[in-house]
Amino acid sequence: MELKSIILEDPTTKYPRPPFKEQSQPWPGLASKMDPKPDHGETSYKGSNRLVGRKALITGGDSGMGRAAAIAYAREGADVAINYLPAEETDAKEVIALIKKEGRKGIAIPGDLREESFCQKLVADAVNGLGGLDILVNNAGRQQTNASILDISTEQFDWTMKTNIYAPFWIIKAALSYLKPGSVIIGTSSEQAYDPSADLYDYAQTKAATTNYIKSLAKQLASKGIRVNGVAPGPIWTAVQISGGATQEKLKHFGEQTPFGRPGQPAELASIYVQLAAADASYATGQIYGSSGGAGQP
Ligand code: NAD
Ligand code: MG
Repeated sequence: MELKSIILEDPTTKYPRPPFKEQSQPWPGLASKMDPKPDHGETSYKGSNRLVGRKALITGGDSGMGRAAAIAYAREGADVAINYLPAEETDAKEVIALIKKEGRKGIAIPGDLREESFCQKLVADAVNGLGGLDILVNNAGRQQTNASILDISTEQFDWTMKTNIYAPFWIIKAALSYLKPGSVIIGTSSEQAYDPSADLYDYAQTKAATTNYIKSLAKQLASKGIRVNGVAPGPIWTAVQISGGATQEKLKHFGEQTPFGRPGQPAELASIYVQLAAADASYATGQIYGSSGGAGQP
């Protein structure tokens, strides 16, 4: 059989460029209502059997990077459970349908990660539904723009910390006894861990914490054969940005400041989540893989 050549795509023109339309949705926002709609790889991601038989749990799997990872994992042959908030049911349904279309198990587990008891139930339900667990992606995140530290209430601060720092802590603790040698934990960090924005005082420090826990845990779990790595995206066109994560002014020019002059799309990071989960990446642990259009990394 003759193989078709890959068509070269110019990364500067491959996806929408600013200016973007003003738009705002109540938190947590739906990808399906964004304009333009983000690309999560729905029609483009092609698998090559890299994760056949693997069992993955992805938080925030309804939209954004989590959705791109969920689609890619299913197309690589994995069964996938996703967590999301009840308000995101319509986005989640689309993801579950895409997973099932690949002939894989797609398990929907809605619920709020700010509760330790829910995080424990999430892991138990995922393990029961999948028949085990060997890929854990802590990807859900809370980000709200605030011009001043004085605008951040204790309740808001706590909300960000609970979602971004406590939830992975609770989920990893609940999952650890199921993770056999060869399993992986992946966290979604951010370029904010290295180069925090003025208006993301609370969010940015949680991403520094994420990068840090990944490196600590990688050392702690190495002898158990469990790899722990992270992904550090730059500005990516997702629901978090149009539901309070960015100002309208920032949104209009989203991604413009990067060398590519545009935001990334979730689909452009999918292969990183696959790579970090795949067995052939067996020497990678404690690493943070970036994807940010040419800026933002240390
Ligand atoms: P997104 O809104 O599509 O995904 C975030 C998800 O987090 C939501 O879909 C929601 O399901 C989940 N979530 C938030 N609070 C929750 C809670 N209390 N309980 C359960 N689920 C909850 O946006 P995204 O940009 O794909 O975000 C994914 C990750 O990427 C986040 O950790 C975010 O911080 C990180 N990130 C995003 C960007 C960006 O520019 N979009 C850049 C760097 C890092
Ligand atoms: Mg969502």
